[in-house]
Amino acid sequence: MKLLMFRDSGHRRLGVARDATAGEIVDVAAASGRATLPVDILGVIDGGDDALRRLRELASSPAAGSVRKLADLELLAPFDPPRGNVLCIGRNYQKHAEEGARATNTQVEPPTIFTKAITTINGPYADVTINPAISTSIDWEVELGVVMGRAGDNIRRANALNHVFGYTVVNDITARDLQKGWGGQWFKGKSLDGSCPTGPWVLTKDEVPDVQSLRLRLRVNGVVKQDANTRDMIYPVDAVIEWLSVGMTLLPGMLIATGTPEGVGFARNPPEFLRPGDVMETEVQGVGLLRNTIVERPS
Ligand code: ZN
Repeated sequence: MKLLMFRDSGHRRLGVARDATAGEIVDVAAASGRATLPVDILGVIDGGDDALRRLRELASSPAAGSVRKLADLELLAPFDPPRGNVLCIGRNYQKHAEEGARATNTQVEPPTIFTKAITTINGPYADVTINPAISTSIDWEVELGVVMGRAGDNIRRANALNHVFGYTVVNDITARDLQKGWGGQWFKGKSLDGSCPTGPWVLTKDEVPDVQSLRLRLRVNGVVKQDANTRDMIYPVDAVIEWLSVGMTLLPGMLIATGTPEGVGFARNPPEFLRPGDVMETEVQGVGLLRNTIVERPS
């Protein structure tokens, strides 16, 4: 099932895609009548199997007047915000770890963990604002996003995917100059406002039969910059969940960005960074595609 948020008369509303009819979305609030149904995707996750079952029923036989055309909707980030900072894995693809080491003349290092502030969350087709007075090296990172569905700590790898609700697309936009400054921690360079486009929806996990065989691509102005596959992850999704949850509870509605493959801008020769007017297309095949334009905000 495909769940999304859209704007209507200034409000965020929950939509669910109709299985049989591509391009049709059921406006859950308009369809629910007197039944109490979730108003957003966090509510669906918290509602568990019962909420999913009721939404499935709604999608298969929607009430009159509740069906909207996807093309007519202004889609918003699925979570704004998710439960807590976006949890991120750095260097989770070997070739990306190697390109980064080459570009900075350092040793290849193992994967690491960092987070992005909740204020980075941005919509699937929203503009991304950059300010050259703050950073002149804004870079792209296509990533598979994992949405947690059940709370847990010390989750075993064999059981990890049972804690997943679904998947989405994340662009972990990064200010490389800030990432390398500020004492060497990554949080600041990863947390500029609006630097985490997400969406365009959350696909429930039953629609992704093998999360480790998804093609990831990122294009800038139509030119392919990243083209890889989730099978190349150093830590696959189940191992990421096991690793993150050691002594640290993962909550339903948390969003995990699972790392980016090779082809980022700073590691190119010469390095490439985003400029005003650039259009990024960030795609995880079978999950979705984000399209974001860079705009400049002068200081
Ligand atoms: Zn990243």
